[in-house]
Amino acid sequence: MRSAKAAAPNTILRNLPSVDELLRSQSAREIIDAAGEQYLAALARKAIEILRQEIGKDAANDRSKESLLADAEDRLKSLWQAEIKTEIKKVINATGVVIHTNLGRAPLSDNARRAIADEASGYCTLEYNLETGKRGKRGGRAERMLAELTGAESVLVVNNCAAAAFFVLTVFASGGEVVISRGELVEIGGDFRVPDVLSQSGAALREVGTTNRTKLADYEKAVGVHTRMILRVHPSNYKIVGFTAMPTVAELSALAKKHKILLYEDIGSGALFDLSEFGLADEPVVSRSIEAGADVVSFSGDKLLGGPQSGIIVGRLDLIEKLRKHPLYRALRVDKLGLAALEATLEAYRRDSATSEIPVTRMLSMTESEIAERVVRFGKKLDEATGKNGNLQIEIVDGLSAVGGGAAPATQLKTKLLALSHRRMPAERLEHLLRSSDPPVIARIVDGRVMIDLRTVLEDDEAEIAASIQCLGK
Ligand SMILES: *Cc1c(COP(=O)(O)O)cnc(C)c1O
Repeated sequence: MRSAKAAAPNTILRNLPSVDELLRSQSAREIIDAAGEQYLAALARKAIEILRQEIGKDAANDRSKESLLADAEDRLKSLWQAEIKTEIKKVINATGVVIHTNLGRAPLSDNARRAIADEASGYCTLEYNLETGKRGKRGGRAERMLAELTGAESVLVVNNCAAAAFFVLTVFASGGEVVISRGELVEIGGDFRVPDVLSQSGAALREVGTTNRTKLADYEKAVGVHTRMILRVHPSNYKIVGFTAMPTVAELSALAKKHKILLYEDIGSGALFDLSEFGLADEPVVSRSIEAGADVVSFSGDKLLGGPQSGIIVGRLDLIEKLRKHPLYRALRVDKLGLAALEATLEAYRRDSATSEIPVTRMLSMTESEIAERVVRFGKKLDEATGKNGNLQIEIVDGLSAVGGGAAPATQLKTKLLALSHRRMPAERLEHLLRSSDPPVIARIVDGRVMIDLRTVLEDDEAEIAASIQCLGK
């Protein structure tokens, strides 16, 4: 039989399906509508190539045409599955991290979703005035509402807060100096590092004070003929505690006015109202900074505000108008879907129903006992349904949710968690099964158990997450 060794691969290779044969198979016919002819043909070539290489390693096996075609179909199906797994798809966030940047930050309110789907996604009044039948102002309504809600003279909306900071620094500080405390030279997730943004914008950094303490006198000493601006950055994802000092916005504003320079505050998380009753005492409120005299303030639309990705710049009329007329605005402006969702989100603030309508504020405002009630109700339903699945153990335990999104890093919200464990499967396997369900459920593992935090699970998704849990390890 050894003599067959050299001939075997050739026989097998001759039995491999051709691309055309594979494309005529049942599996290919199931994929073609979604993938399209050309892309499917490319996948088929790749599937056959993969199979050819596998055979090369295992040349002694004799194989029929039929079984090789079946194998090629399998490879084709897995290539297609792997491709569609990378699409943007809905997930259920059971991590308890409310503003989860990897999972798309703020989930939009029902009204914001409707505004995108029903109003903005087709032709719409983005830059059209129905009264005059002529060109209208992009973002006008969202800007008016933001002015009302923050007390600012004027507002401009751009793509995100990083764009806002870069824009403000470029337009008002390029070629000059920006004074900033050493305690605020922070990195805010990924690629946003304050010193790098400053240098990209063409402004020179003049750092003052120390990491934990910076005094008004430190700023005063640093202000010179080249100074254009005092920059204050909310450290967001990091907190200095203990022996600390920072001048107030009002003190810095007075200093800026005295020297005829600007005070710009990058707030980041952007609470539109005081969230201290929900345990977020350190989050700056936009209107307070405006009231205290900041000339320009920027913040994200998809952090504590709970809207779409956007960067909001509020402040003095003359400054905002200068930004609006700057050629960079065209490159940084927000799109129609974002503007429509932002308008709808702001309407909820205007009618004072943010805590009930906007998911982020609703989730942050849930008390431990509200969550406990919900978890007990949900747990009972699960118990009834999983009664037959004796392998699965479900327990309610104390835990903590997080604000996330680089906001309130020191704040942890008390919650009740569903702790799942399985008699025959490790937690990693359970977690993976939940992640593979449809829609995927994203959970975390603590002490060998999978934890489900209902704080971040939208009420409408409860049935789906229950179905996924019921299926575990049956
Ligand atoms: C989050 C944050 C940013 C970046 O905002 P994006 O909207 O993610 O671009 C900038 N500055 C501060 C202070 C932040 O907290």
